[in-house]
Amino acid sequence: MCLTEPVCGTDLGILKTKAHEQEDGTYKISGQKIFITSGDHDLTENIIHLVLARASDSPPGTKGISLFLVPKYIVKENGSIGPKNGISTGSIENKMGIKGSATCVLNFDEATGYMIGPKNKGLNSMFTMMNLERIIVGIQGLGLSEIAYQNSLNYAKERKQGKSNSSKSQNGSADLIIEHADIRRSLLNMKSIIEGERALCFWLSQQTEVSLNHNEPKTKQEASDLVSLMTPVVKSLFSDLGMEITSDAMQIHGGYGYTKDQGIEQLYRDNRITPIYEGTNSVQAIDLVFRKLINKNGDIVENYINILRKDIETESSELKPYQEKLKIYLEKLIDFTTWIKEKIKDSKDDANAASNDYLKVLGYVALGHSWLKVLEVSFKEVSNNKKFYEDKIQTAKFYFHRVLPRVESHYSSAISGSGYIMDFKFN
Ligand SMILES: Cc1cc2nc3c(=O)[nH]c(=O)nc-3n(C[C@H](O)[C@H](O)[C@H](O)COP(=O)(O)OP(=O)(O)OC[C@H]3O[C@@H](n4cnc5c(N)ncnc54)[C@H](O)[C@@H]3O)c2cc1C
Repeated sequence: MCLTEPVCGTDLGILKTKAHEQEDGTYKISGQKIFITSGDHDLTENIIHLVLARASDSPPGTKGISLFLVPKYIVKENGSIGPKNGISTGSIENKMGIKGSATCVLNFDEATGYMIGPKNKGLNSMFTMMNLERIIVGIQGLGLSEIAYQNSLNYAKERKQGKSNSSKSQNGSADLIIEHADIRRSLLNMKSIIEGERALCFWLSQQTEVSLNHNEPKTKQEASDLVSLMTPVVKSLFSDLGMEITSDAMQIHGGYGYTKDQGIEQLYRDNRITPIYEGTNSVQAIDLVFRKLINKNGDIVENYINILRKDIETESSELKPYQEKLKIYLEKLIDFTTWIKEKIKDSKDDANAASNDYLKVLGYVALGHSWLKVLEVSFKEVSNNKKFYEDKIQTAKFYFHRVLPRVESHYSSAISGSGYIMDFKFN
């Protein structure tokens, strides 16, 4: 996908790549695209670029952008590969991580392109792919977190340092670091976030299936709106927490984590792109707050909150303590939602400065809800597979006690507003 240019990444309305229509209905595309993932390689016989450009008679801004298919090699009538198109690879970007992926600068010099979809509606066409990509980037963060956790757990079971509080080792020998309370806390922090994220992903996949295949148009639409609400959350929360988890994994490995010996620093470097590409996390949060809470179909976040309200009220003595805890933080989400809806109308800077916190609050509550669903099954099934489900119940306990309360600090810092931020004079 070729969107980004030297002058624009987030703000595609100012892109400069031009498309001149030819008599045969094709276009000549000229301009420069940067940071293009797999922009050039020899793994396939041809590369089909999807390029955003502005036709010569189109208006400025986002309303004048169209989508073009621009092949590296022109394809002949009979489907065979023809001459090289006017695309050259300026360079390969020198990156911090994901070194196995060729990220390219591409120069288009009167390259032949074919318009896809309606003229000037290129952003809409591109965004059908971008939304899927965003979920995938969130899952990239989740995958890297999982490898970081597995490595940390193994290392903590091998590395001996210091004495634990309940140490039985003698003759000056040290205990395994997994026996230290702080290391255990860090491992459980990773595990409870990762497994909660995975449960949320299954719920999201289920909603996606409903949005694509259900017979009832209303049910289909409601599921589609929930997917749209949760897409920026999965993208941003999972990739941000991927930074926390890969950093904590490095910490568990001590100096060996910082050096290249154990491969942990690579996970940190590789994950660092996930909060940036496919729309930066801050921009995702702003999109969530300004465009995803309410749409033409109604109050989407309110519908989501109602699902949670219902699940918190199901009668179960085992679930009760968890339902009660989730209720406390759901109330914070409700208060925050009321606050932010007001700010969207009359104080956009307050809403903008609170967006990241709002996304986190929605995300942590969504993970809490996902854990509640996991617990429901775990309590039912624990007698059939004690080891597996007891592990889930204990991990959930950590999430509800140690991670979910983060909601409180995000909420109280965000509602302090933005006056003192906007008035600050940077020297
Ligand atoms: C390894 C890699 C692979 C990539 N692959 C592709 C690809 O295949 N195709 C492609 O087209 N692009 C690709 N990109 C580009 C990537 O999508 C952009 O870098 C990203 O969208 C951010 O754009 P930018 O770098 O221009 O940053 P800017 O848009 O200049 O943003 C700079 C900062 O300003 C903030 N900001 C911007 N606007 C606002 C706002 N309105 N409110 C608040 N904050 C704001 C951003 O959050 C960010 O922190 C890739 C980039 C990298 C590094």
